Formats: sequence, structure tokens, C-alpha cells
Amino acid sequence: MSFLIKGEKKSWEVVLGLEVHAQINSKSKLFSGSSTEYGAEPNSQVSLIDAGMPGALPVINKYCVEQAIVSGLGLNAKINKVSIFDRKNYFYPDLPQGYQISQFEFPIVGAGSIEIETKNGTKEIGITRLHLEQDAGKSIHDQDFKNSFIDLNRSGCALMEIVSEPDMRSPEEAAEYVKKLRNILRYIGSCDGNMEKGNLRADVNVSVRELGSKKFGTRCEIKNVNSIKFIQQAIHYESKRQVKIIENGGKIVQQTRLFDPAEGETRSMRSKEESHDYRYFPDPDLPPLVLDQKLINILKTNLPELPDIKKNRFIQDFGIKKYDAEIIVSDKGIADFFEKIISNRDPKLVVSWVTGELFSYLKRKNISISECKISYEKLGELIDLIENGTLSNRLAKDLFEEFVEGDKSAIDLVNEKGMTQLSNEDEIKVIIKQVLDLNPKMLEEYKAGKEKLFGFFVGQVMKVSHGKANPQMVNKLLIKALKN
Ligand code: ADP
Ligand code: MG
Repeated sequence: MSFLIKGEKKSWEVVLGLEVHAQINSKSKLFSGSSTEYGAEPNSQVSLIDAGMPGALPVINKYCVEQAIVSGLGLNAKINKVSIFDRKNYFYPDLPQGYQISQFEFPIVGAGSIEIETKNGTKEIGITRLHLEQDAGKSIHDQDFKNSFIDLNRSGCALMEIVSEPDMRSPEEAAEYVKKLRNILRYIGSCDGNMEKGNLRADVNVSVRELGSKKFGTRCEIKNVNSIKFIQQAIHYESKRQVKIIENGGKIVQQTRLFDPAEGETRSMRSKEESHDYRYFPDPDLPPLVLDQKLINILKTNLPELPDIKKNRFIQDFGIKKYDAEIIVSDKGIADFFEKIISNRDPKLVVSWVTGELFSYLKRKNISISECKISYEKLGELIDLIENGTLSNRLAKDLFEEFVEGDKSAIDLVNEKGMTQLSNEDEIKVIIKQVLDLNPKMLEEYKAGKEKLFGFFVGQVMKVSHGKANPQMVNKLLIKALKN
């Protein structure tokens, strides 16, 4: 369903297309051997090429080319056997060459697509292209009152620009698209997808049109948005801004805008340049990039299992719900972890522990599964104790954090805490009798037909047993006892 904007006069639909810049996980830059390590001393990772010195010649980094190819394969896209590097000319203080080496007419990867999940089911989003380009340096304006500084460490780092078709119709769809794209790149390993570090950022193109109209409106492009939340906020603000202008008789001017997270608004940066303004021309220092079909085939064969395929396999093999499978594969670390635990165990129980307790623990601590101390063997052991009735779900939840962070095995911890589940029928019967004797009035009411008191009795038995009684057995034995 579309994200509708109720204007004062009409209803409007938002149309979105994204250009995502993803930094390639490469130790060296796209055309030089300089390191790409994050957080180094400013200007300590700059070769003559990255500094734009005349006569310094770029040499293509084979690893980066391969990463672009595997990413293209992951996007179900056409790999172009011949692509061309162009110079995109513009002035920026942090662009010493005076141009960026990019690809324009002949990118390395052509049309593809990815699938996202929406409220109305699966939707396909078209990928227009993926091309390779260099990153620029960084201008720093906030360290001195009078001066700006330039750090060229980022200059020349390899980026993949991934352009989508204008296929998205709501902030949620844009968010799902970025999440899915990021996930695919992470599975493939071509980009770490770290948006906080700026390793993945999006230019968000926004236009609006009257509901039912087939023609696209004029778009504005919001540059360099570096979080999924900001992408959604920017779309909300920008689409409403455009509707207001049009309804008041104005026209949208094609523009490049910036999103200001502090104010939650977009602001004009510059009027939109056209591609001919850049005077693109093939870089004379670089020959056309020609790919060998054998290399493409090898990369294709070695492609890892991608999230959608993994999701379907999980649904098929383990009989888990689509929704659960979707969230498990949305993090490769979790998916691998899950798959190791699930063998020989009850899938339902494993799903509920992974997507329930484990997820909420990771979220609470704000860590990823790789940073978490728990091993799959350890969590598996805990699940086994629940499955064989030694430990109740509830008690397991109570000791979860201590279990994850400590070194004790599940069974040792359970013994130490005296948390072993009470599964002895006779002992449970004694407690049930005790509870019924203590509550004669309730018992009378129950027998007179007030059946919802059953829950009360269960609660009392659990209480008397300090939460240790096996709930299934309590249910079964209580039903029997109440019949007498
Ligand atoms: P540029 O570099 O000039 O921004 P690109 O072709 O690289 O041009 O990117 C255009 C982006 O804008 C694409 O993601 C495309 O889907 C999107 N887009 C094009 N027209 C519209 C529109 N009317 N509304 C929203 N997005 C649009
Ligand atoms: Mg653009």
C-alpha cells in the first residue's frame, strides 16, 4: 500500500528512488595501494594518486572489481563484460584531482532487482545499475572557528553506487529496501554496511504525485543520509513539503537537499546539476575494464547462500514461520548461530529462544551476536534442559542473563540455584491438595461453574512451588483433582 499524504485539497502518493553508496570492504583503495583503515591519523593514508598529483597514474584494484561483480550477482543483475571509467569533473576542496573517477554510460553492473517484504506481501524493487567510483576526502569545519581542514584518508576509497528504479512508495518501503540491500552486501561480504561510519549512505530521491496519476512529479534529492531512521524522517518531511508547495499553486524545483536530523527537516543545498554539467569523458589513464567470463563463473559458483534462499530453506527444512525466518536471516551471524543450534532440537522452541530471549538480550546490551559471549553449544544446552523438563521456560528466562555472561554450564547453574523443575507427580499432587484445601470458597465456585478460576488455581500452585512445578503437569493433574 502506498503512503498517502492527505493534503488540504487532494490525496498524494510519494515516489522514491534511492542511490546507495556502499564502501567496498577492501584493505586498499580503488586505484592506489593506500590503506583504507578507519580512524587513522588524518592524511596518513594518502598516496600521490589519492592526493591528485599530476602524472600519478591510477591502477585498478582487482579485489574491488571482484566485489562489484559478486554484489551485482547478489542483486540478480547483469554483469557487463566491458565497462568504462569516466572522469566526473567538479570542484570541491576535498577533491584534489578536480574530478572523480566514476562510471557513467557503461557501468560494471546493469539492471537487477531485489525483493522486499511489505504489508501487502513481497514486492520487487528494480535495480538500475551498480557502478564503481572513488570516494572524495573529507572537509572538517567544526574544529576551528576560522579555518576548515581537509582529511584525504578517504580520498580514493572504493565505492559501489547502487541506483534503484523509482519503485518505492512509502518511507517503510525505502527502509526495507536499504535493510535488504545492506543485508545482501553483508552476506556477500563486499561491504560491512556500517551506516554510522558512513560506509553505507543513501541519496534519497523524493517526488509526489496526485493519487491515481501515472506521471511522475519533479524530484528532489536528499544527499548522504546515513541512518535508516533518518531516511524515513527525511521522506516524511520532504513529501509533505512538496505537497504543500503544489497545493498552494507552486512548482517543485529540482534540487539537491540536505537532511538536518536535529531539526527533522530538509534544506536546500544547491539547484540540481545535470549530468552534462560534469563533462563526463572516459579517463585516458584507464583502459576499458574487460571481464573474463571464467572469472564471473568462478565468482558465481562461490557465491554464498543469500538471505532469500536461506529464508526459504529454513521454512522448508525446519517448518518455521515465514515471519520468523525473515527476522532470523536478517542478520547473517544470527542465521548461522540458529542453524547450528536447531539440528536435533524442537524448531519451535529454538525459534522462540533465539527471536525472543536472545534478541532482547542483544538489543538491551546493544551488541551483535558476534560480540555476545554465548556460544551455540551453550544456548543449545539450555534449550535441552527445557525440552527434557528439567528447567521451566520461566526459570530459564530468569537466569538467562547470568547464564550468558557467566562461565557455568546450564545444568551447573540450575543445580546451584536449586531451580530444577519439579516434575514429580506425587509432589505436585501434594501441592495441589494444599492449594485446594486452602481455598474452599473458590473451589465451591469453580464447581458451581465458574471455570475461569482454573487459572487462579494454576497460579497458586506455581506460587507455592516457587515457579518450579512443570506447568504441563500442573495443568493435567489439576484438571484431574478438580473433577473429584
Ligand atoms: P542523478 O545522479 O542525477 O541523481 P541518477 O540516474 O543517478 O541521477 O539517479 C536518479 C535516482 O532518482 C534513481 O534512483 C531514480 O530511481 C530516482 N528517480 C528518478 N525520477 C524520480 C522521481 N520522479 N521521483 C523519485 N525518484 C526518482
Ligand atoms: Mg544522484
